[in-house]
Amino acid sequence: MQGKLNVQTENIFPVIKKFLYSDHEIFLRELISNAVDATQKLKTLSTRGEFQGDLGDLTIEVKLDPKKKTLTVSDRGIGMTADEVERYINQIAFSGVTDFMEKYKDSHEQLIGHFGLGFYSAFMVADKVEVLTKSWKDEPAQHWSCEGNPEFTMEEDKKHTDRGTDIVLHIADDCKEFLEEHTVLQLLKKYCRFMPVAIRFGEETIWVDSETECDKDGKPKRVEKKQPRIVNDPDPAWKKSPSSLTDEDYKKFYHELFPMNFEEPLFQIHLNVDYPFNLTGILYFPKVRKTIDPNRNKIQLYCNQVFVTDQVEGVVPDYLMLLHGVLDSPDIPLNVSRSYLQSDGNVKKISQHISKKVADKLEEMSKKKEGEEKSALEDKWDDIKIFVQYGMLTDEKFCERAMKFYLLKGVDGSYYTLDSYREKIKALQTDKDKTVCYLYASNAEEEHAYIEKAKAKGYDVLLMDSPLESHFINLLEQKIEKTRFVRVDSDTVEKLIPHDDSIPEKLSKEEQEKLKPIVEEVVGTQRAASAEGKAPEFTVQLESLEESDAPMQVTQSEFMRRYREMAQTSGGGMGFYGELPESYNLVVNINHPLIGRVLAETDTEKQKDLVHQLTDLALLANGLLKGEALSRFLKRSVDMI
Ligand code: ADP
Repeated sequence: MQGKLNVQTENIFPVIKKFLYSDHEIFLRELISNAVDATQKLKTLSTRGEFQGDLGDLTIEVKLDPKKKTLTVSDRGIGMTADEVERYINQIAFSGVTDFMEKYKDSHEQLIGHFGLGFYSAFMVADKVEVLTKSWKDEPAQHWSCEGNPEFTMEEDKKHTDRGTDIVLHIADDCKEFLEEHTVLQLLKKYCRFMPVAIRFGEETIWVDSETECDKDGKPKRVEKKQPRIVNDPDPAWKKSPSSLTDEDYKKFYHELFPMNFEEPLFQIHLNVDYPFNLTGILYFPKVRKTIDPNRNKIQLYCNQVFVTDQVEGVVPDYLMLLHGVLDSPDIPLNVSRSYLQSDGNVKKISQHISKKVADKLEEMSKKKEGEEKSALEDKWDDIKIFVQYGMLTDEKFCERAMKFYLLKGVDGSYYTLDSYREKIKALQTDKDKTVCYLYASNAEEEHAYIEKAKAKGYDVLLMDSPLESHFINLLEQKIEKTRFVRVDSDTVEKLIPHDDSIPEKLSKEEQEKLKPIVEEVVGTQRAASAEGKAPEFTVQLESLEESDAPMQVTQSEFMRRYREMAQTSGGGMGFYGELPESYNLVVNINHPLIGRVLAETDTEKQKDLVHQLTDLALLANGLLKGEALSRFLKRSVDMI
């Protein structure tokens, strides 16, 4: 029999060839998915008792014949009767295809998705396609053939008695790479790695103990052996029930997914939803310590175990892209472009659901189990803190949930929830405006002197050292009313948390006016003498502090520093703050006896030396005294002694 394919437009073949050209490798996925479907349908018929014959070996086979220039996909599934070929292959149900092509002429991927162009994608790489198929029903086999135009031939093939379908592609001259074993193997590994029916492609060599030969120690010799190569794992971990898997199984699967990742994941979430949409998958938490942009695209999307994409940007929320793993849902449309995926309602629901599951998992981990010193969350916190911060900064709903389990870490290493920490510090660290002041250090080493001073006052100090911290602190100040974060070095310890009690001033107003220019002059000459004048700017501030406090201290305004840091990590938008020079305050304690001595000194040279010395000591405590200035300080110290 000869016939004409029922397509409303003759254009379809040029479209397939041209428009779809860039993505032509997906033909293999399409054909093997069809073979998998046909096989699974047969299994279903068999379990229902409708098919009573022997299923036999159901392995799908992919074969290359470079001489004949063919690539063949064979399955032993349900096959098709003549009627079915007519219905499923000949009558391509493209209603309104012309309109559609007009609309999507620039986005071929969407075209395939909408029409299930599956089988016809073979024409992207073949100039002739043959289908040899025999149904499981007792009907003669059919041989269909088409050369990439609307004419086809179809005839019975009485010789062919084996159930199932062979799709034979006569590969076009400009697509010869699909006749190369390594190219095809790569494609099979990419698209079919977890398809649910075994797929055989060629042979592989393995090393085994010889049954006949021994080496000189009498042990069996290792010899090469060829065996059929199965390219997929038809039963991947994410399809199994979580209760049947151990932690080891999960780790093994992680390495199967990412053979090039040598670090162990921290823990995982096994997703298993069937209402209101279908979703399975495993998401692994990797260590995220320093950076928020490690290996992106480590989440693979599958649709019923068929690989769709690993470009999930915009498909899952940004912060979830820090996770690694697989997501599988029949509700994720196959074959569509990313922009389409991003606007798809199901995809949105799925990503909201994952966000929720991630929050559930972290909340569960935050509960301390009986007899345990630390919760599982505390245990892993340092490795996932940035992930949680990133999520809270970018996902409102996740933020709400995370406020309950987010952990603050003290400089001494203890962890607190936001609520419990507020309770802990409320009494001593509430200022005169009833704002609770959270003190923190970004670097426990460098800010050591300030931390000690705060501790001596009975204050607690947090360690906040992630690269997102300045943004995160802003977020917390918005979320928790009457809250202020101040870094320990941003003011003198009295003023970090201002209370009402002020300390009486030992110097009169006139004495203070005399003192200030003396200090300013020294600071000015010191700055000019430093390397190319690049030293930070200092503002001299006189303050009435405890006599026992240091005579001079260096502080840096919380606001200015934080905004500079935010500008540096957010790039653009906040540029102005990033341009500001580093600026510090030099706080002079007017109640300190040494400051009294400065004023009393009549020899101006000695007075200058004394101020120099005090300034340098303050800089030294802050790690700001370096190079030549440090050498001068050392020399002056020796002279003075
Ligand atoms: P889709 O798979 O999206 O339905 P296709 O064009 O790939 O679209 O296939 C059309 C139909 O042809 C399938 O739904 C199926 O009924 C039939 N078919 C294709 N390949 C096979 C096969 N290997 N075995 C049995 N039937 C097949």
